[in-house]
Amino acid sequence: MSLFASLVTRVEPETVVAECRRCGTTVDADTAVCATCGSEDIVEYSID
Ligand SMILES: [Zn+2]
Repeated sequence: MSLFASLVTRVEPETVVAECRRCGTTVDADTAVCATCGSEDIVEYSID
């Protein structure tokens, strides 16, 4: 039941912080392009 397990994992609450690697601005987790500098170099961190 690996599919079920992955679904369970997905609904567990977790905090995702996304940050632009170029200028350091914190952006929404689903942001692909930094609104501040236009960089596509976004990194995401999952915080338990
Ligand atoms: Zn930026």
